[in-house]
Parts: sequence; structure tokens; C-alpha cells
Amino acid sequence: MSLRITAIGTGYLGATHAACMAELGFEVVGVDVDETKIKALAAGEVPFYEPGLAELLERHVSSGRLRFTTSFAEAGEFGDVHFLCVGTPQRPDGLAADLSHVEAATAALAAHLTRPALVVGKSTVPVGTAARLQVMLHELSPVGTGASLAWNPEFLREGHAIEDTLAPDRLVFGVTRQADEDLLREVYACALAAGTPLVTTDWATAELVKASANAFLATKISFINAIAEICEVVDADVVALADAIGHDPRIGRRFLNAGLGFGGGCLPKDIRAFMARAGEIGAADALSFLREIDSINMRRRQRAVEVTREVAGGSVLGANIAVLGVAFKPESDDVRDSPALNVAGQLQLQGANVRVYDPKATANARQVFPTLRYFDSAEQACSKADVVLHLTEWDEFAALDPAELLRIVRKPVVVDGRNTLDAARWRQAGWTYRGLGRP
Ligand code: NAD
Repeated sequence: MSLRITAIGTGYLGATHAACMAELGFEVVGVDVDETKIKALAAGEVPFYEPGLAELLERHVSSGRLRFTTSFAEAGEFGDVHFLCVGTPQRPDGLAADLSHVEAATAALAAHLTRPALVVGKSTVPVGTAARLQVMLHELSPVGTGASLAWNPEFLREGHAIEDTLAPDRLVFGVTRQADEDLLREVYACALAAGTPLVTTDWATAELVKASANAFLATKISFINAIAEICEVVDADVVALADAIGHDPRIGRRFLNAGLGFGGGCLPKDIRAFMARAGEIGAADALSFLREIDSINMRRRQRAVEVTREVAGGSVLGANIAVLGVAFKPESDDVRDSPALNVAGQLQLQGANVRVYDPKATANARQVFPTLRYFDSAEQACSKADVVLHLTEWDEFAALDPAELLRIVRKPVVVDGRNTLDAARWRQAGWTYRGLGRP
């Protein structure tokens, strides 16, 4: 009989994982403590935006292969393999990760494990968490040591979550028993057959792989943004520079896009949690550079505000500022720690009249920043604008016709916070174009 799988926590990661496991042919149950979310998912509706997910979910909910519940008893009874996908946000009182959701979900599930099962951690956690959860599982589950634990970090990117789940660029299994590795190989048989590289290792290494991958990516972005700061002083062009150094295969061009920096529900909190954990285990010095990475990143938001003030003539008080994009990245409605929303909010607080358009993230942004004004199109947001800010690089903004837009605005000034608009085209159409880190 085919394996029965649960996803505990049905947010961006868990809902995607559940739908993809159903797509692979498994019977799946998704579990969450959020009843509203579970109701929506059970009705075949995705409560957030992820390209392709709505169709996948609809298909498998209709076929009955994918179900959703708030009942851990149902999940425990049903599943052979339970994927832990709950959130690990930053703690409100410091840099460390808040593990209360992971612990609560593990405890709730453990109490209902009445037959041998494998619990697989996917959430991003500080090194050492798996070892603690294993003890919890053994103590709390009726089946005792029959409940086993593996760590299988997740690398999906929002906006590409389905392809990343169905065809990941690598798989990491942190396991302590051959039987657990065999079970995971069964779950991921399709990807493995297609040649996906697999690294099988211990729990601590598996946990550290995820933290290190995010620390590296954050470092790459902040590196080029630090160079952008230098370029700004000497009127050099960070985009040309990135192209040039990116041709070196040892460096590579990806993740060298200077601009507003990184945000979202992962990178910022993950590098902070990594630093905090390094401190706890007595290795703070090893990761002290991540504090600088974080600072460089946060300075970009400040810089975007300064450039906006500059092009607005020294002050944004009373100025109409059109903001194109508030999601933390394109193809997502996620505004968690969004650099774009941060900049929009700062300008509003400095007296600007901020007019926002985002193709998908308006509802989420409105919850965080209800005082901004939200519009249904780029044209509406840009009406009578004194400055247009391009803050999230949605394709539809690259496709805007600067000549058309020129007729709508009060002053043709654009600040490209992502350095992805065609500068020459905007200038030719009569705009004053300012990039970040560009002359
Ligand atoms: P999310 O906030 O979208 O989803 C978390 C879900 O867990 C929520 O629906 C919440 O209601 C649920 N939850 C909380 N406590 C619970 C409990 N006790 N039992 C059951 N459900 C519970 O978060 P996310 O973006 O999906 O991230 C989840 C984890 O995956 C995090 O550790 C994150 O770092 C990691 N991750 C996320 C991504 C991504 O792109 N979003 C990528 C890789 C890894």
C-alpha cells in the first residue's frame, strides 16, 4: 500500500508540500491549528498566492487524495510519514528563533502516535533542535521509540515553490536509522529517479545545511549591496560591475542583484537565528560577520528613502509617491519583512502621500500598513505622482510603457529600487531615472 503522508502546518511551505505529495500519488492530510486556513484549504482554496498551487490543490482535494483537518488525532491515526512544516519566526524578545510552534506541533502529534511512524522536520530550526524533539517524541508518544525522527530541510523559493518541491536541486536527509532513510527514499522516489543529488547525513549537519545556505545567499546579496554603497560615492555602476564579476564562474551572476536587499519570512530571521544559536553554543565569533550582513541589508532601505527624498527636492512632505510593488519578492503575496513595504511605510511616516499598487500583495500589505493608499493598477497608483518607486520586480512593471506613464504623472522621476527597469528606455521617454548604486 502506498505511504500515507501528513503535513503539519499548512502555510507557504506545508500547503505546497501537501499538494505536491498528493501530486506524486500519495494520500495526504494537511493539519493546522488555524481553522480559517484549514476551512479554505479543504474547500480547495489557497489562502495565499503561489503560482500553480491553486490548480494543484483543487485537483487533489476534488479527487479526495488530499484532505485537511485541525485534528491531530486524525493525523496520528492516518500517517506513516509526518512532515513538520510549522513556522519558526523570530522571537519577539531577541534574535533567536521561536520554537514554540515546532514544540507544540511535535507534542500534539506525539500524543496520537499509536503505531510506528516517521516524523520528518522540514521547518528551519537552530542546530540541536532535532535531538531535543526526538526525546520529546519518545517520551510523549504511546508507541515510544517506535516514533522516529528525521530532518529534511526545505529549500523551496516562494514564487517557484511547486517546481522546487517536485524537482528540487538537492535533497538532504538527516537520519539516524537506515529504515528512516529507506522511507524517505520512497517518498522522494520520483526526484531521486530523475537524478536529484542526495546528501544523507546526521541531524546536526542537516539543520546546519539550511542555516548555512541562507547565510551564504544573504552574504552574496549584502556583498553586492556594500559595493553599491561604494559605487554611489564615486558614480560607478554596480549593475555593470556585477555583470563583469559574475562572468567569473567562481563568483557567478545569480544573487548579485544590488538594490533594496533581501526580506521575507526566511532570510532575515534565519541569519539572526543562526547568529543567536552560534552564541548559545559558544561560537559567536564564527558568525559575527552576519551582523554586518544584516546591517548592510537594512541600510539599503534607508538609502532608498534618502534617494527618494533627494529626487523629491529634499523633502517628501506632501509629495505623491507611487510605490510599485510591496511584496518581498515578485510572484508572491508575502509581505513578511518586506523591504518594499518598509520603504513605503517610512515615506508615509515622513509626510508623503504614498499610493501603492502590487499585483498580489495588497491584502497582506493593507493588514500591516492600513494607512497607505492602495490601488488596483500601476496607472492608478502613478496618477499625479511626483516620484515613482519601483520596489518589487514584478514582470508587469518591466513591461510598463514609460512614455504612456509619463502622461499620468506630475513629475517624470523614477527610482528603481531593484535595478531591473530598462534605464535607457525610461530616460529616452523623458524620465529622470535613478537606480541604487548607479550613476
Ligand atoms: P507560515 O507562517 O506560512 O506557515 C506556518 C503554519 O504553521 C501556519 O499556517 C500556522 O498556523 C501553522 N502552525 C503554527 N503552530 C502550529 C501547530 N502547533 N500545529 C500545526 N500548525 C501550526 O510559514 P512558512 O513560510 O510556511 O514557513 C514554515 C517553515 O518553513 C519555517 O521554519 C520557514 O523558515 C521554513 N521555510 C519556509 C520557506 C518559504 O519560502 N516560505 C522555505 C523554506 C523553509
